[in-house]
Amino acid sequence: MIANRGEIALRVIRACREMGIKSVAVHSTADADAMHVRMADESVCIGPPPASESYINIPAIISAAEISHADAIHPGYGFLSENARFAEIVESHGIVWIGPKPEHIRIMGDKVEAKRTAAKLGLPLVPGSDGPVEGVEDARAVAKETGYPLLIKAASGGGGRGMKIVRAEGELESQISQARSEAKNAFGDDTVYIEKYLGDPRHIEFQIFGDGEGKAVHLGERDCSLQRRHQKVLEEAPSPAITREQRDHMGGVVAKAMADMGYRGAGTIEFLYENGEFFFIEMNTRLQVEHPVTEYITGIDLVREQIRIACGEGLSCEQEQITFRGHAIECRINAEDPQTFVPSPGLVKNYVAPGGMHVRVDSGLYAGYKVPPYYDSMIAKLIVFGSTRERCIMRLRRALEEFVVDGLKTTIPLHQKLIEDPEFQRGEYTIKWLEEWLAKAEEGKKP
Ligand code: ADP
Repeated sequence: MIANRGEIALRVIRACREMGIKSVAVHSTADADAMHVRMADESVCIGPPPASESYINIPAIISAAEISHADAIHPGYGFLSENARFAEIVESHGIVWIGPKPEHIRIMGDKVEAKRTAAKLGLPLVPGSDGPVEGVEDARAVAKETGYPLLIKAASGGGGRGMKIVRAEGELESQISQARSEAKNAFGDDTVYIEKYLGDPRHIEFQIFGDGEGKAVHLGERDCSLQRRHQKVLEEAPSPAITREQRDHMGGVVAKAMADMGYRGAGTIEFLYENGEFFFIEMNTRLQVEHPVTEYITGIDLVREQIRIACGEGLSCEQEQITFRGHAIECRINAEDPQTFVPSPGLVKNYVAPGGMHVRVDSGLYAGYKVPPYYDSMIAKLIVFGSTRERCIMRLRRALEEFVVDGLKTTIPLHQKLIEDPEFQRGEYTIKWLEEWLAKAEEGKKP
């Protein structure tokens, strides 16, 4: 059973079908006509449109698993995927949890705990507070080490929310108390911590798999520096910024850390990368949106690997057998105005997905489908492979041109413009680059 919707539910259903496993979809009343419901072998309605009453409604999901006699639950990403309590409940019902051990989800879900654990495992950290920061005195002491600007982060934050930049000592006191009360409101936890604010890093993350019994491998890195409001827009693998030696070295460090931890299943270790150095920021204990770029360059089906591990079959390959070939780029296509980013749900009047060699579209769209307004605005992922980065970009250009989604505004035109930028083409970008580029584009439109 897939406790999710949209493209990721389809992704898992497809892997199941290839493995000869029957699948059960769950859906809210708003998703009765969704593609994941049509494609699964069975489906169960779990509640009304708001996710709180359906996709994150634990009793409804467990009941659906029981009535459909599901053997296992795959949570996808988002929704309940990083909810340790849910993982425990699933397991306590005798259902296989296709995910990491609940205790590891819990540790990594608390960013302060995650950093402590990462430090113990020998991963390099962004300089900052050793643990939570209570008041301004605490914060001042940390600031002496990190300097300004610094970043106040919420221990329970996520999705790019719950961060505050402090540029000078004078702002520290008010920002700490504001950050704490905002964190309390947004995440129900006012724990905050401090990190040095890195000026111009890249976001580079490593994909890992562990068998839960002390063995782990890495599948290389992804560069996810192209972000808007800390949300990823376009991802690629390998990173244009690092060398093979750096990949082998850092990948080895990460895999060893995960092996030592006894980590089970898929995970992503996120780093900021600046001046040749990696700094751990967080770990995601689930499959990532951008996992297909890794699938292209390694030839490994990550969902199949997750299912195998959950079934106790262990890792399908040794580190030495994992090789990297070519280049892959993913564009996240959102139902949004490409200039204002205002969501644009509604009826898809016509839909033509690009095709051809090395072009993959993960999407639940079809002509006549009505994109509901209740969920995330990402409606498709276009993933393209090429033997080199240059060829990959040429193919991506062609695929974006072919892509037709009529009836809604989408971010396809944004990607088309973005990939024509010479700096992007040279791979010269950091986490700030896209927002500066968008601001320039906005400026250029003014009379
Ligand atoms: P979330 O869980 O909300 O995604 P992360 O810790 O992964 O939070 O950070 C999200 C993004 O915020 C990063 O990809 C990066 O762009 C930016 N960021 C996080 N920490 C720092 C830092 N110390 N300095 C500069 N930018 C940062």
